[in-house]
Amino acid sequence: MKTQTNSKFIKVRCPKCKNEQTIFGNASTTVSCLVCSRELVYPTGGKSKISARVLEIF
Ligand SMILES: [Zn+2]
Repeated sequence: MKTQTNSKFIKVRCPKCKNEQTIFGNASTTVSCLVCSRELVYPTGGKSKISARVLEIF
């Protein structure tokens, strides 16, 4: 099994509590804020939708 190379890490800021968190760009599951549990990323048909402020893409 090969590791995907088009993966990106994205730094986002939670719009609710302003927590900054680094997430996986092609997350296939919902990613929640570690502080307040607000949903930051959720999958929509293969792509991940980011519902937070993107600060940086690595
Ligand atoms: Zn939060």
